[in-house]
Amino acid sequence: MQNNPAFKAFLSIPRSVVILTHFKPDADALGSSLGLAGYLKKKNHAVKVITPSDYPNFLNWMPGNEEVHIFHKDKPEAPARLIEAADVVFCLDFNTLSRINELGDMVKKSPAKKVLIDHHLEPEGFADFEQWDIQAASTAELVYKTIVELDDKDFIDASIAECLYAGLMTDTGGFRHPNTTQNVFQVAAELVAHGADPAKISKLIYDTNSLERLRLLGFVLGQKLQVLPEYKTAYIALTADELKKFGSQTGDTEGLVNFGLSIKDIRLSVMITDRKENIKLSFRSLGDFSVNDLARKHFEGGGHKNAAGGQSGLTLDETLKKFLELLPLYKKQLLTE
Ligand code: 5GP
Ligand code: MN
Repeated sequence: MQNNPAFKAFLSIPRSVVILTHFKPDADALGSSLGLAGYLKKKNHAVKVITPSDYPNFLNWMPGNEEVHIFHKDKPEAPARLIEAADVVFCLDFNTLSRINELGDMVKKSPAKKVLIDHHLEPEGFADFEQWDIQAASTAELVYKTIVELDDKDFIDASIAECLYAGLMTDTGGFRHPNTTQNVFQVAAELVAHGADPAKISKLIYDTNSLERLRLLGFVLGQKLQVLPEYKTAYIALTADELKKFGSQTGDTEGLVNFGLSIKDIRLSVMITDRKENIKLSFRSLGDFSVNDLARKHFEGGGHKNAAGGQSGLTLDETLKKFLELLPLYKKQLLTE
């Protein structure tokens, strides 16, 4: 943590803490938030985790889940009060306030100290304390580092360890992506030593599918996945009706974009889904092709070099057309290597 002595001194008395993470939290967002919450509670702070939206059911097992406050647009009063009255607001796994929608303004206005713990590119710079590292594979790893820097490794119990392990496991794609460093395995080993059970967590996250979700996967792979070999690109566009037909729940489309990238010679994969409130884009790439740049420049988004997301106010068809029309501009980049 930048200026760790001051951060440590600040947390040396019980504080009123709010922990926030990004819209539609994934396992790293929620796991790092609940892991940090578990630790801070043991240090006698009053802690509230607020998410800007709901999240997939396969994350509900995480210890502390039952206490998460899920923000609803039509009921902003309670979270607004909590953020206003907090001594400190932790922002985990995001670095621009637009990623937390309505909560962003509340954070801006709050007199609380802001702490950023994050591994995404190009932070906005709103925090008083930063634990920011784009080399880190996951925010969970940075929460672990923060606890260690506060000399509190012994406070990590099995509940905290399994939340953090879930973030580490998923943001490395099950310890497979190029961000799977020696440090990742070292932290994973420490978390296992503190009680995280790899097989149990893997089962809870990856192997608790509903039949509908598997049917959706079958439909997507059978009928929706398109390949453009001339651009080394794969894409999937899912309509609101298709999602409805498969009873799609939050999280059901997570990971589908990776199938495009699993095809030999494909370097760019996109999934575009009609989420009704907007069109959501999910990008993955291999090597030097930066989907952070692509998402930032054309789709109001960002993320990491090889995994990013964005949105569009156009229709699904128009968004797909816009994406396809961009490909010639990137052809050279997509074909080199
Ligand atoms: P996913 O495609 O799994 O939703 O997201 C991939 C990565 O990009 C994640 O690290 C996620 O936090 C980030 N991301 C997803 N959507 C957005 C977005 O709209 N804006 C920004 N800045 N990052 C995003
Ligand atoms: Mn993350």
